[in-house]
Amino acid sequence: MRRDLVEELVVLHARLLRRMPYVQALVVGGLGIALLPQVPLAVFLAWGAATILMEMVRAVAASRVLRRRGHWDPVRIHRRFIALAAFSGVTVGLCGVLFLPHLGLVRQAWLAIVLFAMPAAGVSVSVGSRYVLAAYAIGILAPATETYVHLHPDLLIAQGLSLVFVAFLIIVAADGERLLQRSIAIRKERDEVVRELERSNAETKAAMERAEQSAQARARVLASASHDLRQPLHALSVYSAVLAERPDPATLGEVGRNIGQIVQTLGSLLSGLLDLSQISAGVFVPERKVFPLGGLAQEICQEFAPAAAAKGIAFTCTCEPVCVVGDAVAVGRILRNLIDNAVKYTERGTVAITIRIDGDHALVEVTDTGKGIPPLEHARIFEEFYQLDNLGRDRSKGVGLGLAIVQRLCERIGAEITVKSESGLGSRFTLQLPDAITPSDGKPTGASPQEATAQPHSFAGLRIYVVDDERDILKGMRWLLDAWDVRVATAGSVREAGELFAREGLPGILIADLRLGEPENGAALAARMRRRYGDFPVLIMTGEIGSEALRDAHAAGFPVLQKPVAAGTLYEAIRAAVDRAN
Ligand code: ADP
Repeated sequence: MRRDLVEELVVLHARLLRRMPYVQALVVGGLGIALLPQVPLAVFLAWGAATILMEMVRAVAASRVLRRRGHWDPVRIHRRFIALAAFSGVTVGLCGVLFLPHLGLVRQAWLAIVLFAMPAAGVSVSVGSRYVLAAYAIGILAPATETYVHLHPDLLIAQGLSLVFVAFLIIVAADGERLLQRSIAIRKERDEVVRELERSNAETKAAMERAEQSAQARARVLASASHDLRQPLHALSVYSAVLAERPDPATLGEVGRNIGQIVQTLGSLLSGLLDLSQISAGVFVPERKVFPLGGLAQEICQEFAPAAAAKGIAFTCTCEPVCVVGDAVAVGRILRNLIDNAVKYTERGTVAITIRIDGDHALVEVTDTGKGIPPLEHARIFEEFYQLDNLGRDRSKGVGLGLAIVQRLCERIGAEITVKSESGLGSRFTLQLPDAITPSDGKPTGASPQEATAQPHSFAGLRIYVVDDERDILKGMRWLLDAWDVRVATAGSVREAGELFAREGLPGILIADLRLGEPENGAALAARMRRRYGDFPVLIMTGEIGSEALRDAHAAGFPVLQKPVAAGTLYEAIRAAVDRAN
């Protein structure tokens, strides 16, 4: 029998056993009335007391079992109940041995009826346990039947009848057992369904709470974003009014510079919002490729070295030779945001970037001696638009999205970002990246990026093709590149680019937008032109992160510039491309 079934059975049986002393007292009373005129009183009383006592023993055992539910082995208790049923049956069955010889035929028949009825009633008390029932029935009927056959040797058939009766009772009990089994199974199924319902209710509730929280977060982000977008747009409308008044050259210069600053701020705000939305919407699917973390950090440090030098901050980058398996673009983005903050919020002292291996993790630490962050704010700085010391929301102090992007990217690539900082005592942001590998032939990379400072460079004679489906961007790029003495040719579509290559041959550099509003993206176009016309340097510009096209660009080894691209960054990228080509 299954263990859970035995347990159920034992409990039900125990519940019924607690009432058995009263039932037995009634049986003894009834038998007394019927038999006492013919049986000795003392023997009857002794027998009656013994049977009631036996039922009391069973009732006490049953109560203990019910009290200590869950602390006993059901199989052992079942066996104990079988033994108690056998004792109880024999005690009752003794009345056949003791009384039958004293009784006349009618009373003998009457006693026999009672003795057969008792195991039949026992079917319900045994709650379907064939074994309890068999022990009880055989205990009652065996001694009584033997005595009866002894008194009536001509009625040997009584033995057979008793046996058939016991067998019949056992079959009925087995049916009960099956019924019990079925009802337990149904109850279990019902419990499982209820549990499942409760679980899915809890999940739905949690999902609703999450949705509510994210709706609130979205509303907060939208409110902040609309405020932060409105301000610079308002400033732009004021400046456009100033320009319409044809100001003097000095004012014109200042307005031009201010417009440049505003456009840069708007660009970083929009690209931050775009990145956040793409990362949150799961559009960004991180790559899993081996890349040299030290090399990447060095490149990024070089980008920030001029800004640090301009503020008079010591800037160091010490990297163990380590590669990681992951998404280089995402890691680069995280490092840029952390280093940008470190340089931005440090007025004197040092900004240090270190990379070391810790087991199978790579640890990148960006440490600064800047203004620090009070511990109470450590969690909140990772929220969108949360900034310290910028109540006036002066956008030249940043837009408040950098660390939110860092946090989301970390979640997507399985990295961990932690911060240690005190107000006035500098900050240390630690990025823990999984899946680090030490390249066996790796060389320690500890060069100081200040060594690689920008040299003035002449682009005179350089021929650049620019492909972008935005006419305004083409116009702007033409003006900008003209100003750097570059010979520019522009194409607004894949077809125009093809014609340009066919007409004018290879460019010094091709600068292509990634998304051209056509099936062929900028990276694929560049690759096709290279196959057709031979090698030339390529720069890809895009506002996307994590798209298929972007992955194509990285796979082809094209440098990618994230829009909005500051003029200085473009200048450096062109210079690097020229250097690589020479
Ligand atoms: P932003 O720098 O554009 O304001 P972030 O999300 O990058 O936005 O940072 C949020 C806030 O955290 C910043 O406004 C700044 O107060 C604080 N913070 C971040 N990095 C540093 C740091 N290295 N030192 C001091 N404060 C920092």
